[in-house]
Amino acid sequence: MPEQESDCEYRATCHFYNVKNMTPANKRLKEHYCIEWPKKCAIYQAKATGKPVSITLWPTGKLIG
Ligand code: SF4
Repeated sequence: MPEQESDCEYRATCHFYNVKNMTPANKRLKEHYCIEWPKKCAIYQAKATGKPVSITLWPTGKLIG
């Protein structure tokens, strides 16, 4: 099955969305946030309010790494 594209307006510049070879856990986050509900995503919310976005910020709001 081809992967569904997000219609999130930030996907082109999003560090999370463009991670190569996602783990199954990250794929689930992508489905939940990027595909189903971008407005719940912490990266989306930061970008939408013009806040600087750390590349360690994940859609859940957690900092990874
Ligand atoms: S991680 Fe968030 S900001 Fe990035 S493409 Fe997905 S929903 Fe949009």
